[in-house]
Amino acid sequence: MSGRAGFGGFCTDLHMHSLASDGVLTPAQLMDAAAQKGMRLVALTDHDTCDGVPEAKRRAEELGMVFIPGIELSCGGEKEIHILGYGIDPLNPGLTAFREQRRADRIERAEQMMQKLAEAGMPIDRDSVYAQVSGVIGRPHIAAGMVSAGYVHTVHEAFDQYIAQGHPFYVPRPEVPVREGCRIIREAGGVPVLAHPMELRSGEAVLSSLVHEWRGQGLAGIEIYHPSTPSHKIAMLLGIARQEGLLVTGGSDYHGIPKRQDDIGQGMDRWDSAAADLERLFCAMNRPFPREMLGLTR
Ligand code: AMP
Ligand code: FE
Ligand code: FE
Ligand code: ZN
Repeated sequence: MSGRAGFGGFCTDLHMHSLASDGVLTPAQLMDAAAQKGMRLVALTDHDTCDGVPEAKRRAEELGMVFIPGIELSCGGEKEIHILGYGIDPLNPGLTAFREQRRADRIERAEQMMQKLAEAGMPIDRDSVYAQVSGVIGRPHIAAGMVSAGYVHTVHEAFDQYIAQGHPFYVPRPEVPVREGCRIIREAGGVPVLAHPMELRSGEAVLSSLVHEWRGQGLAGIEIYHPSTPSHKIAMLLGIARQEGLLVTGGSDYHGIPKRQDDIGQGMDRWDSAAADLERLFCAMNRPFPREMLGLTR
């Protein structure tokens, strides 16, 4: 692969997390790391927050990268469905209200989980749990509290025995329908894209009917190039995208957590049609396609 086709190679990553949600690096550090990896086009897509966007945008642009402001909304209920939003205005009032509500929901849920644990004889120190939170509180913080209190050895053990879905102290978050997620993203000027479709663990028939339904609810794209997509499933997903007229995107879902062994740009070498897909994405975001900055020639 070389030239235009090779753009799919190693210079874009549209799915990355910072400390503003559950990533390890600050937004500026994340952009530094992306530039070091040779990225030219990046997006920050923290879970249910865009607090990291201004810092990431500033740093990315200083480093000469093209930056797309993004978010990853946790939709669905028992079964989580993640919807990426590209090109959102982080200051949009509807989006701000939604984020505030989600933050409140998360605190309420964390409190419920801690209360359940305490009632079962496993109290954890609230203050030290909250002290660990840099972005939004989540189960990883509860798990860390359980490790500190000595109830389990590792965060993984906390999940596997107590707080993963189907376990005694799991509390679901209030359901956000996909339709609602897509509406919020669109009203904030963004383009809604289904994140990591293979993580839905549905077969082709179910997946294609879900995507068809969501397409009717405002979904505009599907993230095909993600580390969870095995190479032999790409053609199937491209078939669904074509049938539904969806945009195609890709990203590594980098969190910077050493144990996950994730890396910026991971899996993007398979994205042969990146240049054309990105041009369509920019068109959908109503932005000029920065062909020169991306090093693309016609
Ligand atoms: P929450 O958003 O509060 O439901 O927490 C979800 C987060 O918990 C995910 O983003 C993962 O980082 C983490 N997580 C989920 N399942 C596990 C697991 N089995 N072991 C360790 N971390 C997990
Ligand atoms: Fe995450
Ligand atoms: Fe996700
Ligand atoms: Zn993600």
